[in-house]
Amino acid sequence: MKRIYPDIHSLLDIPRLQRINRFSLRLIVVVRNSYAVHSDCSIKLIYLNNSISNRLLNVTTTKNTTPKIVIIGAGFGGLFAAKGLRRTDAEITIIDQQNHHLFQPLLYQVATAGLSPSDIAWPIRNILKKNRNVKVLLDTVTGINTEDSEVLLGDKTLPFDYLIIATGARHTYFGNDDWEQHAPGLKSIDDATNIRRQILMAFEQAEMCTDENERKRHLTFAIVGAGPTGVELAGTIAELASRTLAEDFRQIDSRSARVLLLEGGTRVLPTFPEKLSRYAKHALNNLGVEVLLEHSVTDCNDRGVVVSGEEIPCATILWAAGVQASPAGRWLNSETDKAGRVLVSPDLSVKEHMNIFVIGDTALIKDNAGLPVPGTAPAAKQQGRYVAKLISNRLLDKADSKAFRYKDYGNLATIGRKSAVIDMPRFRMKGFLAWIIWVLVHIYFLIGVRAPLAVATKWAWQYLTFGRGARLITGKKKEHSE
Ligand SMILES: Cc1cc2nc3c(=O)[nH]c(=O)nc-3n(C[C@H](O)[C@H](O)[C@H](O)COP(=O)(O)OP(=O)(O)OC[C@H]3O[C@@H](n4cnc5c(N)ncnc54)[C@H](O)[C@@H]3O)c2cc1C
Repeated sequence: MKRIYPDIHSLLDIPRLQRINRFSLRLIVVVRNSYAVHSDCSIKLIYLNNSISNRLLNVTTTKNTTPKIVIIGAGFGGLFAAKGLRRTDAEITIIDQQNHHLFQPLLYQVATAGLSPSDIAWPIRNILKKNRNVKVLLDTVTGINTEDSEVLLGDKTLPFDYLIIATGARHTYFGNDDWEQHAPGLKSIDDATNIRRQILMAFEQAEMCTDENERKRHLTFAIVGAGPTGVELAGTIAELASRTLAEDFRQIDSRSARVLLLEGGTRVLPTFPEKLSRYAKHALNNLGVEVLLEHSVTDCNDRGVVVSGEEIPCATILWAAGVQASPAGRWLNSETDKAGRVLVSPDLSVKEHMNIFVIGDTALIKDNAGLPVPGTAPAAKQQGRYVAKLISNRLLDKADSKAFRYKDYGNLATIGRKSAVIDMPRFRMKGFLAWIIWVLVHIYFLIGVRAPLAVATKWAWQYLTFGRGARLITGKKKEHSE
């Protein structure tokens, strides 16, 4: 196979260097020992561009070794990067703190008892079993030593020649972290099963309740944030109460449950065109959801939620407002925006570390219109594929790929099981047909991740026929304050 740099003579080959960074270069070669040209020596090459530079490349290469590529995170970005590198001769290690890849767009279905965890999450090892050059590690990355090109895993280290960071994002409480215990967010399978337990327990508690006010409190559900996840949760909980559970209880009428969608801004689905936002609000109202716009949450506590100065008693508060990127910016000591996203170069590399890339929800890069590329699954996948191609080219000593360009395929959001809104570059749609398209798109994406058609069709069948096998209360029982 081709090595990153075959020998010291080619390192000094000026046309090659010019191709590497396309600027005239001042070259400093630091040879670690006097046997630089010998076969095993390690060479540190540092070069600066003319503007004395913000650009610093530090490549360490050893003859006769296979290039090591480390990918942190097996979400959409990391997984598609690993798949894109399958034809290289590099040694690839993908590290994730979970043993599974999670299809987050359907997480709300697990949280609302429509799907089981195993319908939307699959072992990373299994997904990558045919990628013979990929090793999977179940571990948590704690930092990065950029100086020595090592990933830190607690007290262990893992060397790399190229590093791809795809560690995603989590919800944020805008400095009110103590709200999390009262208002859980939705990001992982554990979050989803905890929320499922909390929602189902609220109905159980209401059934056993003798105090009318307490019963009402148990049957009030507040969802904070009217983005796609908030809208999906609110619509589905309303359907659960009005349809699925309607005949299950004897003391309560589940249809009397109150579902509130609280939003500080002026409309639901703020990233969609205004007309579709209006439609979504109307569709939510039809499902029985009370949408409170321009209502900012000022406290979440044991009793309920405080909105615009008024406390609304409720036993279940779900947080769907705001995201914070993973701490990669801190690991790299890089510039980030307020949400913690790392400002990356047009080729998704990190300034001053051309062999380190940040992709997906952790990266901040602008699209053609100068707007930040959204934190979505397609954006993360495109970035994963792009970086895989760029690294493959470098390994084969080909010219670098062009700058990353985000292709916007549009936005979709579903409102319950009957309507959705679609905002594509060329057309917009709402209603039942949009919902059918939403279902088909999700089947397509599921197949994209987990190949077997049978799995996707099983999911679609369960989804279409209101299969409710997932309505189980499992795990530790939450202590209710009654
Ligand atoms: C509830 C919900 C619904 C969504 N719905 C949609 C939707 O409908 N459409 C859409 O396009 N997008 C949706 N998104 C957004 C989409 O899922 C993300 O944009 C996408 O997953 C980002 O991909 P990523 O690879 O950057 O990160 P993720 O997919 O989040 O993957 C990050 C991975 O890194 C791992 N990780 C993190 N930190 C560490 C560490 N220190 N050590 C080891 N591993 C680590 C995590 O375990 C995880 O597997 C939704 C997100 C959520 C939470």
